[in-house]
Amino acid sequence: MAAMTAAATQALDAARRALEDMSRRARLMIDTANDAVVTIDPHSIIIDWNRTAERMFGWRRDEAVGQVLTDLIVPPQHRASHHRGLERYLSDRTPGILNRRVETTALDRAGREFAIELSVWPVETGSGFTFSAFIRDISERRRAEDALRASEEKYRLVVENAYEGIVVSQDGMLKYANPRALALTRRTLAEAMSTPFIDMVHPDDRARVYGNYLRRLRGEAVEPFYKFRVVDTAGETKWLQISAVGIEWEGRPATLNFLTDVTDQVALEASVAQTLALREAILETTAVGIMFIQGGHIKWINDTLEQVMLGFEDGETIGHTGEVAFTDHADWSRFLQECIPALERTGTYSSDWRVKRKDGSPWWCHMSAKALKPSELGAGTIWFFIDISARKRAEEEVHRALGRERELSELKTRFVSLTSHEFRTPLATILSSIELIDDFGANLPDAERAELIRIIKNAITRMTGMIDQVMLIGRAESDKLEFRPQPADACEIAQSVAREAEQALGRRGTVRFASRGDGGLRLVDAKLLSHVLGNLLSNALKYSPAEAPVDLDIEGAGPSIVMRVVDRGIGIPPEDHARLFESFHRARNVGNVEGTGLGLTIVKQCAELHGGSVTFESTPGKGSAFTVTVHAPPAP
Ligand code: ADP
Repeated sequence: MAAMTAAATQALDAARRALEDMSRRARLMIDTANDAVVTIDPHSIIIDWNRTAERMFGWRRDEAVGQVLTDLIVPPQHRASHHRGLERYLSDRTPGILNRRVETTALDRAGREFAIELSVWPVETGSGFTFSAFIRDISERRRAEDALRASEEKYRLVVENAYEGIVVSQDGMLKYANPRALALTRRTLAEAMSTPFIDMVHPDDRARVYGNYLRRLRGEAVEPFYKFRVVDTAGETKWLQISAVGIEWEGRPATLNFLTDVTDQVALEASVAQTLALREAILETTAVGIMFIQGGHIKWINDTLEQVMLGFEDGETIGHTGEVAFTDHADWSRFLQECIPALERTGTYSSDWRVKRKDGSPWWCHMSAKALKPSELGAGTIWFFIDISARKRAEEEVHRALGRERELSELKTRFVSLTSHEFRTPLATILSSIELIDDFGANLPDAERAELIRIIKNAITRMTGMIDQVMLIGRAESDKLEFRPQPADACEIAQSVAREAEQALGRRGTVRFASRGDGGLRLVDAKLLSHVLGNLLSNALKYSPAEAPVDLDIEGAGPSIVMRVVDRGIGIPPEDHARLFESFHRARNVGNVEGTGLGLTIVKQCAELHGGSVTFESTPGKGSAFTVTVHAPPAP
């Protein structure tokens, strides 16, 4: 040292200072580094430990230095490989983890294992090697990466397992397709991605799908959902519903599409539409009237019921109640009182009703109804109408025929009893008169014989009259009496009948005739008219005192003539009014005035055959007035 020159000493000092300077700077850098810097010797003994290492691992420098690194911060599972790597490097310089970035884990003072990034480099010193490591805590970054990976995984799971097909298309090609989308087109991912997507679309739908795709890429408004057909590799057509949005895919515009297989739904819709159309056609063409009532109002009605049966315009009855078909409000109320309890109890109702058309004309229908929910009739009832007018007419005809049959048989019965009572008297008279003539023969004075013969003739006339009346009624009731109108003067007929009646009863001049209104020739059946007037006049005369006058008025009024016979006789007790026109019925006050109870029956039947009717007013003790109106238009 002594030999060292002053200059050399100076240089050495300068070099030492520079070295110390550098070492201070290095120390400073190491201490302020963001990474932990740890240095070990070849035996893994820690020889340096910067501030960041103190913070990161929780050991102070004075505690760490001198400790074996692996014991302090290396997790047990990595310790053996640490020592192995170190030994290998020292023996044959195998670099192992040296001089590169490695991700592993470390333990801190609290025993928490966390992710680190590590780079280790060897430093050769005079006495051998030291190893320094930069250690960075990457647990935060790891967590973020793990979270991202987990969320990506979640999305991937959703997308891969979605029941909907999901595809991304860009530049006319598929950039992504999930398994369901591939299954829909029966393609592998590679096949799908190398086929222009429009080729998978049914030719008829291509223009629409491609137009929408381009519009969506341009950011224009596009129908959000629509259906189109695809053809898979097996040539099978499927209906897909698509909903799509414009997205960015790898920095460029693309569309994200969700596809649902709606083939079954489309087929179902088509078959439902077809079934509905078929039903509609059946419901509209059926001869049965059908309507659907909801909340008490007509919701639907077929043409048969609305137009053909009820005579309304198409749709005119919608929103109305069923009252539109009923003759009057009373009928409608009766109908409701009958059908509502039945529907509530059994869910069904059926009955025959006489209803009306819009123009008021009546018809008979058989109605049947079914409630959708008997507990809640407002939910709806379906009604079926069948026109049974023809059947009703036939029934009424049968009814009438049966009635006529019954009347005839009653008539016969009454005739039998009449013959036994009424015929017995004249027959007895005839018999006793003949016996007298027989017994006394030539001894009878001429005047007495003549009287007996007159009595016999009278009795025979009376019996003949009775038989005539019975025959006439019999003919009328069995429809054998005919109406044969001919041009005639009704006044003349009336006057001649009046004269005959007066004559028959020996009351000449008691009938006062008067005529009013339109006279002239009219279409009348003279025979029927004579029966009507003959019986009325003979009653009026019979049931009046001999001197009391009887008025016969005739009035022509338009197409009818009105005939009135008014007397001032015994009148008819009110109790007999109702049965007055029944055959053989006689009022209780007839006394011994002769009669059969058939005259008024004949009047009524003849008047009706003549398109008319009979009415009367009567007060006992004061007299009676019979009015007959018949159809007798002026003769052309
Ligand atoms: P009759 O042969 O008994 O007159 P009708 O059928 O002509 O039978 O009349 C029925 C009944 O009506 C009569 O029996 C009589 O009681 C009553 N009657 C009819 N016309 C008159 C009248 N003008 N005045 C009083 N009673 C009458």
